[in-house]
Amino acid sequence: MPPTPPPEKMMFQLTLRRRGISDQAVLRAMEEVPREEFVLPADRPDAYRDSAMAIACGQTISQPFVVAYMTEQLKLQKTHRVLEIGTGSGYQAAVLSRLTANVLTVERFRTLADKARERLEKLNCFNVEVLLGDGYALPSGAGQFDRIIVTAAMDEIPQSLLDRLEPDGILIAPVGPAHGVQTLVKVTRSGDHFERKELVDVRFVPAIPGIAREL
Ligand code: SAH
Repeated sequence: MPPTPPPEKMMFQLTLRRRGISDQAVLRAMEEVPREEFVLPADRPDAYRDSAMAIACGQTISQPFVVAYMTEQLKLQKTHRVLEIGTGSGYQAAVLSRLTANVLTVERFRTLADKARERLEKLNCFNVEVLLGDGYALPSGAGQFDRIIVTAAMDEIPQSLLDRLEPDGILIAPVGPAHGVQTLVKVTRSGDHFERKELVDVRFVPAIPGIAREL
């Protein structure tokens, strides 16, 4: 028998289920990724609370429910190649890495990219590549993706990003004002047709073009 998880991890799972997460693979991935490794040392005791938390560079690690919800909406398959824009702590990338073949995650702050890379290596997430870069200006060689997840708020989804989707691809992104409430938008591509669906209200830190000049 596997060891009984500590009470805060049991509550964590219960909260996700209560809020409507039902995909077993997603719930398992959320259970397996140690969130305490991704938060600031002072927040470790609270790592399994369902809330966003501050990380370095004035950014945030997302609320676990939102991570699980966005992941569930992506309908990931083991063969997928996934792009994340906004590495932050690397937590969302770690969850993705357990559900799919290959993850490229892009971050504009060097400090965050370096730290996330280190954490992901320590946790054996060898199918994740962390790239210091700008999600609005991806290197042309980055190629196409089955799934794209944007974890920073965009005023609108750039066509250049939609063009990165494979023909049956799905993109999910918070769309709306930088310092307000955004709507999670899901775009499903069928050939040249892009179907857009609005999901729930969310709050993310803004997506800012360009690599950060500060560390
Ligand atoms: N997914 C993260 C949380 C994301 S917070 C996690 O699991 O912890 C949003 C992140 O997006 C921030 O780290 C911010 O620096 C980054 N970001 C904002 N604009 C960006 C851009 N144009 N390209 C890449 N990253 C960007």
